[in-house]
Amino acid sequence: MKDIRNIETDLDFENKIRPQELKTFSGQDKIVDNLTVFIQAALMRGESLDHVLLHGPPGLGKTTLANIICNEMGATLKMTSGPVLDKPGDLAGLLTNLNAGDVLFIDEIHRLSPIVEEYLYSAMEDYKIDIMLDKGPSARSIQIELNPFTLIGATTRSGLLTSPLRARFGIQCHLEYYDSRVLSGIVRRSAGILNIPIDDQAAREVALRSRGTPRIANALLRRVRDFAMVKGGGHIDLEITRYALNALNIDARGLDRMDNKILTTIIDKFGGGPVGLGTIATAVSEDTGTIEEVYEPFLIKEGFLKRTPRGREATELAYAHLGIIPPTRQDT
Ligand code: ADP
Repeated sequence: MKDIRNIETDLDFENKIRPQELKTFSGQDKIVDNLTVFIQAALMRGESLDHVLLHGPPGLGKTTLANIICNEMGATLKMTSGPVLDKPGDLAGLLTNLNAGDVLFIDEIHRLSPIVEEYLYSAMEDYKIDIMLDKGPSARSIQIELNPFTLIGATTRSGLLTSPLRARFGIQCHLEYYDSRVLSGIVRRSAGILNIPIDDQAAREVALRSRGTPRIANALLRRVRDFAMVKGGGHIDLEITRYALNALNIDARGLDRMDNKILTTIIDKFGGGPVGLGTIATAVSEDTGTIEEVYEPFLIKEGFLKRTPRGREATELAYAHLGIIPPTRQDT
């Protein structure tokens, strides 16, 4: 039996392939170009970088960019997330421990509690926080000076951010889905780092079916490698890639089982829509937020779904994709 100490975990895989510098971060060209300038300017001035807000669907590289910004600034990164910071004291503890120039990364920043968020305002603006000491009649607040730091906030739901918080980020970057050419490069790079032999055509196929998302591309690469090892000679070619992706229920347009279930439900149960998000979520037994953050943006971007004031509607492309004749055509 294989020694489990030698088994590569998902985390090892992740750490090996995560780009560490802006020049190895593929795609998102505008963001990379702008960040390169802002980082260089901050370094030239000997200042900490302005606060950065990264928003976009999951798996597009927000955490990766936060790590890269920190590396490029030669700073230390402290990571936390919105739901973890439920008391102002938690935030105060983190902020007072930051050294000059450090980067504080808050993932899911839209989930900060309002009271913690308010503490963040003065910390971001003036590098100061007011801490309450004692309770009741002897309660008093003292002001603590913080070292200049950079806050990097990441969110999949920038619409849920309050405007005062959003306004305090001097640099705002919206990450877009990747095109298949860039994704194909990411797949080849990951395969190269991990010594996985893969044909260009196979890398392109993985890229085409990855919903424009590097995290999915890397995860599919790993699964296709499994199929290639067990069913083939270890080498990933187009044939084994198609076989593996079909076995994983990822169709030719990159839609997975849930994407197809959402479209089928709208068409079969609700006459193609419009239908409300909550109703769709109940019908497919998925959480509303997950549909809104993960599934819907890609289906809309690819033209399978439309968001109308009365709800979500399946497009003609969705009907064609599922091989169903749209009702208007049926009537004529
Ligand atoms: P997010 O924080 O937006 O959910 P991550 O930063 O965790 O996404 O990225 C998910 C995975 O995709 C990581 O394994 C990372 O290595 C990879 N990745 C993301 N963006 C890129 C990119 N531009 N180039 C190469 N790999 C990337």
